[in-house]
Amino acid sequence: MTKQFLSPGFERDAFYECPSCSEAITNPLCHNCLGNEIMKWLEFYPNVKKKIAPKLKTFVNQVNNEAVGAVNCVACGNKKAALCPYCFSEGIFKLLLKNKIDKNIVGDFLTIFNFDAEHQGYIKEAEDKGLY
Ligand SMILES: [Zn+2]
Ligand SMILES: [Zn+2]
Repeated sequence: MTKQFLSPGFERDAFYECPSCSEAITNPLCHNCLGNEIMKWLEFYPNVKKKIAPKLKTFVNQVNNEAVGAVNCVACGNKKAALCPYCFSEGIFKLLLKNKIDKNIVGDFLTIFNFDAEHQGYIKEAEDKGLY
């Protein structure tokens, strides 16, 4: 599992607000890059992949359609980073919950794709549910 995309501390000069949470996106990663990373992670859980992969694609397409005024992704360079990594991963987290994915797997997802550094958003929710 590559963690290179997830390292914090990347700073941008340009100011761009996430349309979902209104926070400045300081480490823009596009839905394609994050989606691909999540797909790779799903390889570890073939049954979950079967269930989640089509929904993940739908979610990625939905974000793609809303990617207006997006900023350049730090990984692929495309002007596609519309949502902040936090909001994107929160969307996936909700998707996993909605599909009643095993809580150990949800916990694994949160360990690898944890963009909620402050533990005030979905990590708090996950903690409350005993998932993290
Ligand atoms: Zn956001
Ligand atoms: Zn990208």
